[in-house]
Amino acid sequence: MPTADRIALMHAELTAWRRDLHAHPELGFEETRTSDLVAAKLAAFGCAVHRGLGKTGVVGTLRAGSGSRVIGLRADMDALPIEEAGGSEHRSRHQGKMHACGHDGHTTMLLGAARYLAETRNFDGTVHFIFQPAEEGLGGARAMVDEGLFEKFPCEAIFGMHNRPGLPIGQFAVRSGPMMAAGAFFDINVAGKGAHGARPEAGIDPVMVAAHIAIALQTIVSRNAPPVETAVLSVTQIHGGDAYNVIPQTAQLAGTVRAFSRNVMALIETSMRRIVKGVAEGFGATAEVDFRFLFPPTVNDAREAEFAAGICTGLVGTQNVERNPPLLMGSEDFSLMLEKVPGCYINIGNGVGEGGCEVHNPGYDFNDAALPLGVSFFARLVETRLAKLAA
Ligand SMILES: [Zn+2]
Ligand SMILES: [Zn+2]
Repeated sequence: MPTADRIALMHAELTAWRRDLHAHPELGFEETRTSDLVAAKLAAFGCAVHRGLGKTGVVGTLRAGSGSRVIGLRADMDALPIEEAGGSEHRSRHQGKMHACGHDGHTTMLLGAARYLAETRNFDGTVHFIFQPAEEGLGGARAMVDEGLFEKFPCEAIFGMHNRPGLPIGQFAVRSGPMMAAGAFFDINVAGKGAHGARPEAGIDPVMVAAHIAIALQTIVSRNAPPVETAVLSVTQIHGGDAYNVIPQTAQLAGTVRAFSRNVMALIETSMRRIVKGVAEGFGATAEVDFRFLFPPTVNDAREAEFAAGICTGLVGTQNVERNPPLLMGSEDFSLMLEKVPGCYINIGNGVGEGGCEVHNPGYDFNDAALPLGVSFFARLVETRLAKLAA
C-alpha cells in the first residue's frame, strides 16, 4: 500500500490520540500522563524506550536492517498556563491549562510516524524519536541535551516541525539559516523609599522610576541596536503598590527580548543594565536587573534545510512549499539541539480559517486535518535519508 494511503487510514486514530492529549494538557516537566502515554505507545509499536531524560522526556529508538546511519526526530509535549476558551468536546479538562501551541499535534504526528515506520520498516538504519518536555520557556531541550541526549543517542541530523496558523493545510514553510529569534526574559527590581501618598517629599517613588525605565528601555532597539538588525524588547509587566495612599518601597518590571544573533542579544543586555542603573540613580533609587538568556536563535543547516524542503516538495509540490518565509520573532528551544547537531525545523500549515487563530491564544486548536501530512513528512524523510540500498 502506498505510504500516503496507509497513513490516511490512520487519520481517525491519530485524531483520537490528538484530542485525548488536548483534553489532558500538562505544563512543562509535569507531562507525566503524556509521557506515560507516549512511552506505552512507542513500546507497543516495538521501539526501545528510554525514559527520564529531562525528567519527563522520552526517547524511542527503532532500528531496521543493518545500516549504521542514525537520525533524530523531535516533538514537544508541554501545554501552556492558559484557560481554554473553546467549547469543543475535546476541550481541556485541566483548569487553567491548555494545548495552545499545538504540541498535542506535534506529539501525535511523531507517534504516528513511529507507528508507521515500525510497521513498515522500509528503511535501513536507526531513528530516535525524541519527545521533549517543557518547550515553553522552561528549558526542556536544555535539560535533555545537558543530560546527554546526543551522547546516549548520537544523531547525524535532527528534524522537528511546528504548526503554523495562517499557512494553509497541505503546505509547508522551510527556511535555510536563521529562522526564529533568540529569546531572553528579564526582571527588574526597583528599590525606592515608601512614604504617605500625600507626602512624596518623604520618600523615593519606585513607581515613577519604573515608568521612566519602561520608556527608556524602548530606546535600546531604536537607538543602540544597528538598524539593519532585527530585535524587539517588550516590557510586559509592571507591578508596584497596594494602596491608594501609599508610595510603595519597591516596584518590579519584567519582559522579553528577541534578536537573531547572540551579539545583538549581548548588546541589548549591556544597554539594559546601563539604562536601568542610570535612570534609577537619577531618581535616587536603586535597581537590579536579572537578565536570563533562554534560547539561542534557531538556525537551520543549509544542506539539511535543502533536504527537508525536498521531502516537502515531493509530498505537496513546489507550489505548496514556501521556501523563503519571513523570520519569526518567536523563539524555539529546538535551537539548542540544532546547536549540537545539524538539522532543520520546518513549519506545517495549520490552516487559515478553522486553524487560523494564533498560537498562545485561548481560542487556538491544532487542526487535525494536518495530521496525516505531518506523519508523512517524518515517514518520507526517514525512508529517503535511510533508504535501503538496492539488492
Ligand atoms: Zn508556544
Ligand atoms: Zn510551540
